[in-house]
Amino acid sequence: MRKARLGRTNLEVSRWALGGIPLSTVMGGKDEETISRVMHTALDYGINFVDTSRVYMDSEANIGEVMKTRRKECIIATKSHSRLYDEVMADLEESLTQLQTDKIELYQIHELYPDEAATVMGKGGALEAFQKAKDQGMIDYIGLTGHHVDLLADLMKTDEFDTVMFPFNVIEREPEKELLNLAKKKDIGTIIMKPIAGGAIRNIEKAFRFFNGYPVDTILNGVATLEELRGNLKCAENSVPLSPEELADFEAEVAPLGKEFCRRCSYCMPCPNDIIIPVMVHVYWQQIKDCKLEDLSPERKQTGQNLTIWWQACSECGECEKKCPYDLPTIKRKNELMKMFEG
Ligand code: SF4
Ligand code: SF4
Repeated sequence: MRKARLGRTNLEVSRWALGGIPLSTVMGGKDEETISRVMHTALDYGINFVDTSRVYMDSEANIGEVMKTRRKECIIATKSHSRLYDEVMADLEESLTQLQTDKIELYQIHELYPDEAATVMGKGGALEAFQKAKDQGMIDYIGLTGHHVDLLADLMKTDEFDTVMFPFNVIEREPEKELLNLAKKKDIGTIIMKPIAGGAIRNIEKAFRFFNGYPVDTILNGVATLEELRGNLKCAENSVPLSPEELADFEAEVAPLGKEFCRRCSYCMPCPNDIIIPVMVHVYWQQIKDCKLEDLSPERKQTGQNLTIWWQACSECGECEKKCPYDLPTIKRKNELMKMFEG
């Protein structure tokens, strides 16, 4: 497995890293045994970097089980979604316990929104806790993550962050404008999330080769099964960039996806009415949206009907829409589906 220097951290991380969401049994992953096998196989292959978060349910605990025997082979990154000093400190203690370690190499501010920046960076905010944890040797480096690329770029200029994590793929190209150059200039390590846009991009070979044309350090590869891991690794080792013609073909290939689709990131969860929103939104978007009822196959009609039963529990509280980094109109989509199947 190719390795890369993760910016000023000087950590030598694998070019492809394990994403922590599918390492949770409740966020798209399989059972604990499968998760353990995926992790062991990834480590055997030379993947030495795993990224998780306090909010990925049992992901940290599942990683911790593997770390009992393989800690020296793995660089751990995790995140806190808390915005205040005391809450971050409590999160960190819990992460250390769950991960069964006494130190985390990279601790990151999770999914920062523009209206939270002043709190995080101000007195009594999250950053103070990160700095304290670094001084006390509980963490080595501080990272920043989010979907708001302009905000990330602004905060990178403060020089408080050693790494930055952001979505980047052939559809989501905003980082090309400023962020990538800025990271290079400031020697900030770059960690890419959503390399296949949450599964929407099906051409894995081209999706992975796309990154060979950019100065990015490591790319998170979220896999739930050994088959997915092995399939992805075959493409991951190809270091040939896309030619201009191949890139143009690839852009044309993904153009029908548009921008308004679910990346299955689960940030909209939990729903107060126990709706599994990513599944509901994704299945609708993939199988039913843009179709007429009469054109749906019997299987898809059945799927649509099943979705309406689940959606009946939705009280339209709007919480999921507030949390979705892509501003997806979940309630509107739900109502379109209900209308399609009404009667
Ligand atoms: S709007 Fe509906 S789906 Fe979204 S969080 Fe509220 S109840 Fe759940
Ligand atoms: S609806 Fe939005 S927040 Fe929820 S999984 Fe899809 S992209 Fe993520």
